[in-house]
Amino acid sequence: MSRVYNFSAGPAVLPESVLKEAAAEMLEYKGTGMSVMEMSHRSKAYEEIIKTAEQDLRDLMNIPDNYKVLFLQGGASQQFAMIPMNLMKNKVADYIVTGQWAKKAYEEGKIYGKANCIASSADKTFSYIPDCSDLPISEDADYVYICENNTIYGTKFKTLPNTKGKTLVSDVSSCFLSEPVDVSKYGIIYGGVQKNIGPAGVVIVIIREDLITEDTLSGTPTMLKYKIHADNESLYNTPPAYGIYICGKVFKWLKEMGGLEKMKEHNEKKAAILYDFLDQSKMFKGTVVKEDRSLMNVPFVTGSDELDAKFIKEAKAAGFENLKGHRSVGGMRASIYNAMPIEGVKALVEFMGKFEAENS
Ligand code: PMP
Repeated sequence: MSRVYNFSAGPAVLPESVLKEAAAEMLEYKGTGMSVMEMSHRSKAYEEIIKTAEQDLRDLMNIPDNYKVLFLQGGASQQFAMIPMNLMKNKVADYIVTGQWAKKAYEEGKIYGKANCIASSADKTFSYIPDCSDLPISEDADYVYICENNTIYGTKFKTLPNTKGKTLVSDVSSCFLSEPVDVSKYGIIYGGVQKNIGPAGVVIVIIREDLITEDTLSGTPTMLKYKIHADNESLYNTPPAYGIYICGKVFKWLKEMGGLEKMKEHNEKKAAILYDFLDQSKMFKGTVVKEDRSLMNVPFVTGSDELDAKFIKEAKAAGFENLKGHRSVGGMRASIYNAMPIEGVKALVEFMGKFEAENS
C-alpha cells in the first residue's frame, strides 16, 4: 500500500488510524454481525454511535447546553438556503463577502429577502479580510453572515465581526475543529464535514435553541426546517449514518490528540513551516495578506502559469497530490487540514526548495 500526501481542499485527508479502525469494523461492527452501513438507524447500536458522536463533539467544542447539534445532509450549500428560510423573520440579513462561498450564500439569501453585502474583499481578489469592527449593520437584520475560513482564497477571520448585537452565522466548513472557538458568540456555526472531519455527505449545524422556531418562511419544506431535525435529534429521516460514524471516530481521535488547543498548536506549527518557506522563497509567493492567512488552506503562485503547471506535474509524480489551485484562481493551493501530518508539510517544503533550485 502506498498512500500519498493528499493536499486536497475537500474531500480531504483523514487520520490513518480512523481509516484502519473503520476497515477493521467494515464487515462486522462490535458483535452486531453487520457493517454500520447495513444497520438500521433506529437500532440500539446506531443510537449509541450517534449519541456518542454528539457528546464527543460537545466535549471538544465545549458547546453550551442551549445549543443543539444537528447532523444533516445537503452539504454546506443547502445551508445557504436553510439559514434564511429559518432565520429571516424580518426578511433582512447582512452578508460579509470574503470569497466565493460567502458570495454564493449571499446570492441565495437574496432569493428569500433583503440580503445586504455590508463588506467585501472582492476588490483585491479576496486576498484579505475587511475591517469588520464598525460595519453598517442593518437595524432590522435577522443575522450577520460570514464564511470564517475561505477555502479557495486562503483567508481566515482572526477576530469575529462586530455584529452590534445581531446574531452571527458562520460557515466553518474549512476550519471546523482546527482550533478552539467560543460557541456562545454565534447563533449558528455550521460546516460540511468533508474537509476536517469525515466523508462528504454530512453537514453539522450547531444552533442556539432560540433560533429554532416553527416560524419559518412560508413554503419552507419540512426537511429544511431546523425544528424538525432538532425535535427528532437528527433522526427525523434516515441520516447519513455511515458518515456520522466516521465523524464520531474523528472526534475520538481529536480527543486522543489532546483536543482543540493542542490541534491549534499543531496546525500553527505546520502552517508556519509552509509560510516561512514562502516568505523567503524567490520563486513561490503566498497570495494572502499576512495577518489574514488561513492555517488550513495555503494558496501560492510562481507568477508563471507554465512554471505552476510544471510544478504541479512534478509534485504529483513525487507523491504530492491535489496541489492545483481552485479553477477560479489558478496557481497552487496546499490544504493542510488537521489530519495532514507535519511530515507531509516538511516533505512538501523540501520538494519546493529542490524545484526552486532546479528551475531558477
Ligand atoms: N463553504 C465552504 C467554506 C466550502 O469550502 C465549501 C466547499 N468546498 C462549501 C461551503 C460548499 O460545500 P458543499 O459542497 O458541502 O455544499
